[in-house]
Amino acid sequence: MDIRLNNHFLDVKETYLFSDIAKRVRKFQEENPDREIIRMGIGDVTLPLPGAITSAMEEAVKQMADKASFHGYPPEYGYDFLRDAISDHYKNIGAPSVTPGIIYVSDGAKSDLGNLPDILGDNPVIIPDPVYPVYVDSNLMNGRKISFVNGTKENDFLPEPPADTGIEPSVIYICSPNNPTGAVYSYEGLTAWVNFALKTGSLIIFDAAYEAFISEDKPHTIYEIPGAESCAIEISSFSKFAGFTGVRCGWTVVPDTLEAGGIKLSKFWARRQATKFNGVSYITQMGAAASLSGKGFEECLANIAYYKRNATALANVFTDKGIYFTGGVNSPYIWLKCPGDIGGWEFFDSILERFGIVGTPGEGFGANGSGFFRLTAFGSYENTLKACELFKTL
Ligand code: PLP
Repeated sequence: MDIRLNNHFLDVKETYLFSDIAKRVRKFQEENPDREIIRMGIGDVTLPLPGAITSAMEEAVKQMADKASFHGYPPEYGYDFLRDAISDHYKNIGAPSVTPGIIYVSDGAKSDLGNLPDILGDNPVIIPDPVYPVYVDSNLMNGRKISFVNGTKENDFLPEPPADTGIEPSVIYICSPNNPTGAVYSYEGLTAWVNFALKTGSLIIFDAAYEAFISEDKPHTIYEIPGAESCAIEISSFSKFAGFTGVRCGWTVVPDTLEAGGIKLSKFWARRQATKFNGVSYITQMGAAASLSGKGFEECLANIAYYKRNATALANVFTDKGIYFTGGVNSPYIWLKCPGDIGGWEFFDSILERFGIVGTPGEGFGANGSGFFRLTAFGSYENTLKACELFKTL
């Protein structure tokens, strides 16, 4: 063929992180068929969907089987009942400015993160390092120029805005609570970013996928911060809150007050979604709405509490051992400094060999991840306790 391809895809580094991990685990299993493996590597939920959610989805299936209540194409920005429920949730977490009309329901946060560059021009992009790799890759695919702000032990993996002299208006990604570090911004920390964005004419894309894990007095949404409606889009998800990683539903908030060059960003996002996306199934949205009300909400919180008990158990061990870590409090992730100043892959091999525990080397999340390691609290309590006993002998 003689067509031209989008060669920016060549700029995206092939990541072998999870395939490398799988390969090493397979080899270990072949060599040690009798050893138990404790998997703390992947950021996927493991508890089944709460009963109130599956009941709502079953009811939706029944409606689909009846001519009188059948639903065809969903509204492109989401059913009103779900947009209302999400807006009510924002009221409960201190952001009444998030009205139903500025909420765009999607099939998950990852899709929206990947799709947002569609409506943005060729702006410089600022991304924290380490962070969820989708921000980097989706911008590379569009040929954007990326600079990084460093998360390090010195700033507890909460990078501050760069000195704003000579900063062009930029697109800034913030993930709080962060994947992989579990670090979460304080009100002051997030206010500094909002003020920086307002001052430099920049846009913040705030990823709140782990909001439900926050239990300390920290911002659950960027719209708790004054001025954010003039500089921030927020992306969130039912994946980790309601166990929807396999069901697929999320949302994006694009306030009508966001404008660039006299054009509302919501106009472009609404057009983008209406053109390229055909909505989320009625059954899924019924389940999602059930997660935000009454019994469904309580059940989701109980699942989050289960994962957080795991995180606390792990955090206690590393605190007692004097091993530096972030996360574990407002997050399902523990991000620890590999003991003995070894690299993440060396630590990976060492705990696989000694304990049969699988985690994720920090090297997979950016240059500053080198020598760090991510453990997740999404496993069973029993396995987490076994892992804790083993980590005590580190
Ligand atoms: N944002 C962050 C920070 C994540 O860690 C993940 C998934 O692990 C996502 C977004 C993707 O969420 P979703 O399942 O809604 O696509």
